[in-house]
Amino acid sequence: MTMPALEDLLVVQEHDLAIDRLRHRRETFPEQAKLDELEQQIAALDASLAGVAARRDDVVRRQQRHEDELSSVEAKIAEVDRRLYSGAVTAPRELQAMQADVASLRRHQSDIEDQILEVMQEREPLDTEVADLEQQRAALVREADALRQAIAALTAEIDVETATESEARAAAAESVPDDLLAQYEGLRARRGGVGAARLVNGRCSGCHLALSASELDRIRHQADDAVALCDQCGRILVR
Ligand SMILES: [Zn+2]
Repeated sequence: MTMPALEDLLVVQEHDLAIDRLRHRRETFPEQAKLDELEQQIAALDASLAGVAARRDDVVRRQQRHEDELSSVEAKIAEVDRRLYSGAVTAPRELQAMQADVASLRRHQSDIEDQILEVMQEREPLDTEVADLEQQRAALVREADALRQAIAALTAEIDVETATESEARAAAAESVPDDLLAQYEGLRARRGGVGAARLVNGRCSGCHLALSASELDRIRHQADDAVALCDQCGRILVR
């Protein structure tokens, strides 16, 4: 094992940690947490909106039925009036009956108009509530869209940085033998992302523990191509 290969392994390690940090940032944008929260608020608003809109639609249907009935009564009144004043009916009894008809239809018309007013009063607060909820929803949707754009921009930025780090990592890894790289990757997976560490003043900079004098002596006398491992944490030690 040549020393440059181990030095390069430490460079690989640095780039791997940088890539880990970038991945972590990419997965934990505060903007994403805020967006998740907004999406929940929008879903809750949609549920409220559906409930209020259903009540409002029910009132609208009732209003429509009353208005249809009103049109039909008005048409009947117009028809009887037309016959009354056409001169075609002359028998007084028949004329009286027709006048009584018109009077009765007008009472019915007035009742329906009262019902329509009541329904319109019932409808007004529901219309206001639907409009308020729709306005709130539109504001949240705008905020969510802005966050999505911000997240997309941040993600693109991090992807560029990650690509740069990956290239640098690949370049550094070229001189590291495959078996050492595999050993490093296994250790990295088991040891919180750090598989190789420098030995500094008799201390492993991976676990920060001091090696015993006899262990240090043993490592010092190892062949140059032997890989030394920390006897505390098992990481590859770079002398
Ligand atoms: Zn260690």
